Amino acid sequence: MRITIYSKEENQDIALRVSDLAEERGFIVDEENPEVVISVGGDGTFLRAVQKYLPKLDSIRFVAVNFGTLGFFAQYQKEELDQFFDDLKNNNYQVKQHKLLKGIAQYEDEKEVSFYAINEVRIENPFRTLTCDVYINNELLESFRGNGLIFASSIGSSAYNKSLGGALVDISIPSIQLTEIASIENNLYHSLGSSLVVDENTTLKAMGKFNKSVVGYDSNFIDKENLTSLEVKLSDKKINIIYRKDFSLVKMYRKSFVK
Ligand code: NAP
Ligand code: MN
Repeated sequence: MRITIYSKEENQDIALRVSDLAEERGFIVDEENPEVVISVGGDGTFLRAVQKYLPKLDSIRFVAVNFGTLGFFAQYQKEELDQFFDDLKNNNYQVKQHKLLKGIAQYEDEKEVSFYAINEVRIENPFRTLTCDVYINNELLESFRGNGLIFASSIGSSAYNKSLGGALVDISIPSIQLTEIASIENNLYHSLGSSLVVDENTTLKAMGKFNKSVVGYDSNFIDKENLTSLEVKLSDKKINIIYRKDFSLVKMYRKSFVK
């Protein structure tokens, strides 16, 4: 089986150790065309690993081994490397597919930037009140005023979305959750005020004068001003993630959030 190890620059030594262990066990290390990408680190590392292999998603399964951070995505801890390689060798695991979000950002210079996200797409303005109209399938829902909006996938619902008071959504339900960042709620202005979950066929769009707002997605952002609209939907691109045979979402929640 062809595998590759992905890590952040500062964890190169750990990555090399894991790579050596893999070769000792008969795995072939192939960075160009791996069948399995092993992310070594935390969720941030996992997100970057998926972005790196975006053009080859169909032929790749991803798995995360956690080395000390939160590691919501991680199915194995660093102490469980033996178990992990055994499971990989014996096909003792299950694979779940998750649709990626697709974002299309339109700018005043008429340049369009499109991108894919695992966790969420964000629009934030730390300088001025962000004002925009929000559309669901081209139908106006509301005029929003506040610091920003995020559009989270189900698998990303436990990240930034959760910090904003959004709901955790079962990762097997394809959905987009629209969650507000510090919305202004007073006698003049009012938006929904709660998170909204839509299904996989729904397109969400924010249109307005965004000034210095920044569009972000996962660990990335677009370094460009004068956005005019941001469209988010679930794409046909899917990531294949390896989960343990005895995977339980409740266990993942307990491990990450319940003390
Ligand atoms: P990061 O500092 O690595 O990520 C922030 C925290 O979110 C880390 O503890 C990370 O876990 C955790 N995380 C990431 N994806 C998760 C998921 N799907 N479920 C549960 N926890 C998750 O920053 P980064 O490398 O740039 O990662 C980008 C992500 O950070 C974004 O997609 C966004 O969701 C999140 N973020 C969160 C906030 C917030 O909560 N206030 C603000 C901005 C961004 P690890 O420790 O294992 O890396
Ligand atoms: Mn991190």
